[in-house]
Amino acid sequence: MTLTPNFNTPTFDQKSPPSPELIDACVHCGFCLATCPSYRVIGKETDSPRGRIYLMDSINTGEISLAPEVVDHFDSCLGCLACVTACPSGVQYDKLISAARAQVERNHPRSVLDNLLRQFIFRVFPYPDRLRLLLSPLWLYQKLGLQAWVRSSGLLRLLPKRLQAMESIMPPLNNGSFTDRLPELVPARGEKRYRVGVIMGCVQRVFQPQVNEATVQVLAANGCEVVIPRVQGCCGALSCHQGQELQAQDLAREMIDRFGDLDLDYVIINAAGCGHTLKEYGHLLQDDPKYKDKAQNFVKQVKDIHEFLAEVGMIAPLKPIGETTVRVVYQDACHLLHGQKISLQPRSLLKQIPNLELAEIVDSALCCGSAGVYNILQPEVAEELGNQKVNNLLAPQPDIIASPNVGCVLQIRKHLTLQQRQVPVCHPMELLYRSIA
Ligand code: SF4
Ligand code: SF4
Repeated sequence: MTLTPNFNTPTFDQKSPPSPELIDACVHCGFCLATCPSYRVIGKETDSPRGRIYLMDSINTGEISLAPEVVDHFDSCLGCLACVTACPSGVQYDKLISAARAQVERNHPRSVLDNLLRQFIFRVFPYPDRLRLLLSPLWLYQKLGLQAWVRSSGLLRLLPKRLQAMESIMPPLNNGSFTDRLPELVPARGEKRYRVGVIMGCVQRVFQPQVNEATVQVLAANGCEVVIPRVQGCCGALSCHQGQELQAQDLAREMIDRFGDLDLDYVIINAAGCGHTLKEYGHLLQDDPKYKDKAQNFVKQVKDIHEFLAEVGMIAPLKPIGETTVRVVYQDACHLLHGQKISLQPRSLLKQIPNLELAEIVDSALCCGSAGVYNILQPEVAEELGNQKVNNLLAPQPDIIASPNVGCVLQIRKHLTLQQRQVPVCHPMELLYRSIA
């Protein structure tokens, strides 16, 4: 079906608008409001789940149009899915906001600058080869001390807020950022229990390659033969969360093709946001006759790394990771906690490390403000949430902060730096690898 946007009276088109049945499930009770980070920061009903559902309904019934001020309320949603967890009526807000965002991208003309930034993000971030082309100048920017000078000089404040935000989350680059160092097959240590594939991710592969290396080593030590296809792209999470439906579908098909014929027991993912999207492939490709069944079969194989290890049990002996007790706080990433209902498994794995003491934080279900590229596109709200999250994480005085999502790690590190605190932030797999090694 070819859809022609009508930018004069923008509204939802006929291709899968937010479903009236899903909208009608909302009984307007408001239980979700207190859990919603955008509502907590902005404080307006229209920036809450209930308010956005009302806006979707009003567009469906023709009472209002998809005007720029309405789009702002959809854009302010972090997609954290805390409202889905909180809702007693089982409202599938995730499906509603996905449908609304795809409609916005098709039918709302964004400003030139907004469009340019989004085009840059969606044409570069999901493609590691393109991202790596940018690394050399960024590496020089860091190594020559320009980044430190620019940050301390106050020059950054002259840039638009979104560019400031992009610069501020850039982590230090290392050799592993430039090439994929993992072999295509890592044998199981000891008796082989499973044959699994590992998804390396797009941003994670470039900015956190050590997390993939740790994941593979932990799997191998626990009896897994690990297959890591050399050529593999992005899972589509970034595009999916921002309504770039066609791009997300293309990336999903590529991912299924890449892992489909490898004779795997499971496909393992270590990033929370990616895991949630991978598990949604059945929905994403439901209208594609060629891939619909393949997507459903693929989804059955997908496991978050914590979910997988907790299910099959770890057999590798674990040693202390320091000479004294190490206090760790675990940060719940939204797409693991709310999107996949996984919260006990990472905690139970970490607790198996002999000298590790796990501390809990207040408001652990509140988003850190990273939310994919939200901290670039909506920097003010993201700043507030990042600051709150870091305050909460620091309260139990941890030695280490553990986070299962690359975006959260970058956001937390940024706010630790802003608060001049030096607590290391790492993925739970890095801690397990240290304990095994
Ligand atoms: S997804 Fe998160 S930010 Fe969006 S409405 Fe739900 S709770 Fe609020
Ligand atoms: S989304 Fe759920 S919790 Fe929120 S107002 Fe509607 S029914 Fe209540």
